[in-house]
Parts: sequence; C-alpha cells; structure tokens
Amino acid sequence: MTFADLGLARPLLDALHDAGYERPTPIQREAIPLALLGRDLIGLAQTGTGKTASFTLPVVHRLLGGPRRTRVLVLTPTRELCLQVEESVRKYSSRSPVDVIPVYGGVGYEPQEKALRRGVDVVVATPGRLLDHLEKRNVDFTYLETLVLDEADRMLDMGFAPQINRIVDQIPRYRQTLLFSATMPPEVEALGRKYLRKPVVVQVGRRSSAATTVTHAVYPVPRHRKNELLVHLLTNSDHESVLVFTRTKSGADRVVSDLAQAKIHAGAMHADKSQRERIQALEDFKSGKLRVLVATDIAQRGLDISGITHVINFDVPQQPEDYVHRIGRTGRAASTGDAYTFMSAEEIGMVRTIERTIGQEIPRVSVPGFDFGT
Ligand code: AMP
Repeated sequence: MTFADLGLARPLLDALHDAGYERPTPIQREAIPLALLGRDLIGLAQTGTGKTASFTLPVVHRLLGGPRRTRVLVLTPTRELCLQVEESVRKYSSRSPVDVIPVYGGVGYEPQEKALRRGVDVVVATPGRLLDHLEKRNVDFTYLETLVLDEADRMLDMGFAPQINRIVDQIPRYRQTLLFSATMPPEVEALGRKYLRKPVVVQVGRRSSAATTVTHAVYPVPRHRKNELLVHLLTNSDHESVLVFTRTKSGADRVVSDLAQAKIHAGAMHADKSQRERIQALEDFKSGKLRVLVATDIAQRGLDISGITHVINFDVPQQPEDYVHRIGRTGRAASTGDAYTFMSAEEIGMVRTIERTIGQEIPRVSVPGFDFGT
C-alpha cells in the first residue's frame, strides 16, 4: 500500500517523497481515506504511530484549491505539540499554497493577533490562548470546515474542558471533526459523543522499537458482548497474529464460530483436539495462514508460541500466574506486543488480584459503545 493508493493529491505525494516517507503507517492507512471522505473520526493512537500525519495529510489535501480563509482548527494540549503539528502541516504543504500559524500562550500576543487577522488556512492552537483571541475577535471561524482535537485525553487531564466547550460553541456545527487520543476514558468518550457525528473509530496498536515492551490494557465490556468487541478490535486494527485465550473449550469453539461469521478465519487449540491437530493449527498460525488462534491455557503449554504480536485474554485468567505466562508469549520475540484483557463486571476482582501480583495497574481502555461502565 502506498500513499497514492490512499487518494492523496500530487502536491502531497511530492512532499511525502521529499520527506522520505515510503509507506503509510497503520493509522495512516486506516484514517486517511476516511478523513478524505469527510467522515468524523476517533483515532486511538499514541505518539510514534504517525498519528499527526494521519490528520494533517487529509486536512491539507482538502484545503487545496479552496479560498484563503481559516478552514481548519487543530487544538493541542501543549505548546510543544502545537509546534509539532504546525511543522507537520508545513512539511506536507511544502508543495502547496497552504498557510498555517501556531497559537499558544507564554509568548507575545501581537504577532499572533496580526497573523490571525490577516487570515490563515490552518490555526494550530492551545485552548487558553486561542480563547483570548476569540474573545477579542481576532479570529473568525465562520468558514471553519474541520476541527481536530489532538491528544484529547491530555487536554482534558489538563483541565481544558471548559475552554474547549467555549471554542467549539463558536465553530459552525456543520463541519468535520477528528478526535485523537491515546486512551479513551469516559470523559473523552463523552467529548466524542458531544462533538462528533457518527464517528468511525480507528485504533492501532503501539509501534514500539523496544523488543521487550508489552503494552497491557484492560477493556471493560459486558460479558455477552465480548464476541462483538473481539470482532471490532480485529477488524479495526492492524493486528497481525493474535492469540486469543478463553477459559473453556466450548468458549474457544464459540469464539471461532463467531469470528467465522464475521469472515475472520481462526483456528482452535484445546484439549478436545488431537496433538496432531494442535500442531497443525499452530503451524498455520505461525506461517500466517491463520491470523487468529483461539486457545485454552492447557492446550498451549509446552508449545513454542513465540513471535506473536497480540494476546487477547477473552476471559480473565483465573490464576494470576496464568496471566504472566500468557503475556510472556508476546513482546519477547515480536517487535510489538500487546496484551489485552476483556473484563466483564464479574471479573473486576480477578483483574485486581492480577494487578497486585504483577505489581502494576493495567490501564483501562474503553471502546465507545462497549464499556459496561457507561
Ligand atoms: P507521530 O506519531 O505523529 O508523533 O509521528 C512519529 C514520527 O514518525 C514523526 O517523526 C513523523 O515524522 C514520522 N512519520 C510519520 N509518518 C511516517 C511514515 N509514513 N513513514 C515514516 N515516518 C513517518
């Protein structure tokens, strides 16, 4: 897959070539075509995934050829990020007549005021300073087409909710809104519900260069919706090889048949399968023929399952040691390794026990529409 396949215009492709980028990252592959169509988007992605370009590229593309007035606003939590996004927009618009200005606090007010009054295509701003300018009517958002909320979780952590609300109140309701966040706590979900129209959720695993990094996450989800969540995660991400653990044999079979209905080909590995069948399933999994393998704990013991990018605990392991054992399968040999645990309300206690055993809290990630807490 190339950047041209994503539908980006020539000036952008040239700028990407200048930047030396050869291929889009997973978040870019998923987010860019949707953003180009004008869809609202929730991007669950951390720094380092290429998330900035996943919104700056479509934003610049959509600005090409239009009239010169402020059509895009990007809100960022910090001055550093503001400058980073500005630089990104500059980089991708190096071959196009798109203008950008960073607006943040702690520096002179007048130069920003002058530039804003002159009119500029893209404003990248921290909420506090932008609100000052809005109140002084230095900036006009009448023609704004796209709003980007970058690192929304951090903005809310920093207490920017009131400023964001007041800013968005002054932006046309009919617009495109893109929200990016590393995590999805209930506050960010609420923000998404309030400001986005039928958003598509795009989620990618962390791209880490450290071979030993395992990213743990717990997904709160009602028990009867775990299948749906699994299908959702598998269809909305770039997970290459996923080992799914269930508590029981029948549970494993059910997951396999539910995945089959969603056209996701998965194999099962449990005690009712012969040793030969298990080895075959494992071989198909390792060769990439099977993207998903669903196993019970007992079945995988003694087998070498290295090189796995993701482990999903469909059921919370009953013994904390099993958790450690399972996630030991990922992150060791693979360059990435994520371990997700689906936690129903009944399993909260077991997760706490695991957290005490491993001596760390596992971050909660909630997927809009699935969290039992909301
Ligand atoms: P971000 O996740 O937006 O902070 O980006 C992380 C880094 O990856 C930045 O230095 C980008 O310039 C770089 N980058 C973004 N997209 C690509 C790509 N498709 N190929 C190579 N590098 C990229």
